Amino acid sequence: MMCDTMGDFLPNLWRNFIADLIPFVAAAAIVVITIAYYFWRKQHAFDEELFKQPPPRGECPICFLKMPLLSKEMWYRACCGKVMCIGCHYAMKKNRRICPFCRTPSAASNEWMKKLMKRVELNDAVAIYSLGCQYNTGRSGLEQDNKKAIELWLQAGELGHVAAYNSVGYAYNNGRGAKRDAKNAKYYYELAAMGGDVCARHNLGILEKRAGNMTRAMKHFMISAAGGHVTTLKEIRECYLDEDATKDEFEKALRAHKEAKDEMTSDQRDAAAAFYGEN
Ligand SMILES: [Zn+2]
Ligand SMILES: [Zn+2]
Repeated sequence: MMCDTMGDFLPNLWRNFIADLIPFVAAAAIVVITIAYYFWRKQHAFDEELFKQPPPRGECPICFLKMPLLSKEMWYRACCGKVMCIGCHYAMKKNRRICPFCRTPSAASNEWMKKLMKRVELNDAVAIYSLGCQYNTGRSGLEQDNKKAIELWLQAGELGHVAAYNSVGYAYNNGRGAKRDAKNAKYYYELAAMGGDVCARHNLGILEKRAGNMTRAMKHFMISAAGGHVTTLKEIRECYLDEDATKDEFEKALRAHKEAKDEMTSDQRDAAAAFYGEN
């Protein structure tokens, strides 16, 4: 039968067009949902890894207290590649300056650099990190070179020294030796935090807080508070006052922080901190 009016013809044309389009729209929707699900799963798996409890903190091999958080509170022995806490280093200095690990007398600074370089050649991660710190500030007769510091910290990080990745993150965050780059800073902070570095965990909390991601910021802060980070407590208190953290979270953070600090505190360490703080 012939179509007698344009009024019948046009709706049929649209109906056929839409019917032809449905399979394509359905296929496109499936592709979009699959891609979105893939990225959601990927982010979810990454977050599980990022926010899981960090490995337990190592102990000082001499006093058996948990190691302090900051690298300036630990001392690396270039003679034998061992690390001790600031308290034990202070006690060693008072006790004829003989290394308690290998019985070698403490070296003068030029000798110390030679020993450090030998340890660097042996691919000792702490020695490489330490050399990076010397370049970063231009100490021990080295000219300041922040770029070189980053190279060495990356090398130390690959060898398993997680604090080195925190230093790389800090360099990117502050534009020291590299162009300021928030994405890179976060990437290296995350590597360090997943390896158990408490300072990197705190730094991640700050980055998330600045970005307004308060749930993620609090997740980081709760971990760094339990690791004994002092400044984190101030941040959690602010979050609590701004109603981004609950009273329970604040109290839990205070308790966990105290426990961590108790495991890291001794009269010897306090005396050392007072001595080196004044010198
Ligand atoms: Zn110690
Ligand atoms: Zn030694």
